[in-house]
Amino acid sequence: MAYSYDDNNIFAKILRKEIPSDIVAENDHALAFRDISPKAPTHVLVIPKGKYVSFDDFAANAPADEITAFMRLCAQVAKSEGVSLDIGNGFRAITNAGNDGVQEVPHFHLHILGGRMMGPMLLLPE
Ligand code: 5GP
Repeated sequence: MAYSYDDNNIFAKILRKEIPSDIVAENDHALAFRDISPKAPTHVLVIPKGKYVSFDDFAANAPADEITAFMRLCAQVAKSEGVSLDIGNGFRAITNAGNDGVQEVPHFHLHILGGRMMGPMLLLPE
């Protein structure tokens, strides 16, 4: 079954500049902006500019130049936020997919979180 992309999701609106965002960095194929509800001193979302629902959609279907541009922007953000391992103390990169992954916005995004100890990898609800 094909992935079904919703053109009205909130990140599609951010890409079209229909709603504002605090942009951190950008290249031809990817955009990085601050999460509206940060869970750490650094909480940046990196998204592809193409229409991909989730990590698996992006990994399976994006062309190599889009994947490279996305990954390079992630590295650029980690460095500019001072959390990359060459200059900082590290970070956590998370992507949620679908219902079981508890994905809220159906446009693939990577959360880059840092600036404090991130604690256990996963806390499951009771
Ligand atoms: P998900 O649960 O899909 O992995 O994460 C979605 C993230 O998007 C959440 O951390 C949420 O705070 C963030 N978010 C939701 N709406 C907006 C918005 O309008 N602007 C920004 N910058 N972030 C948003």
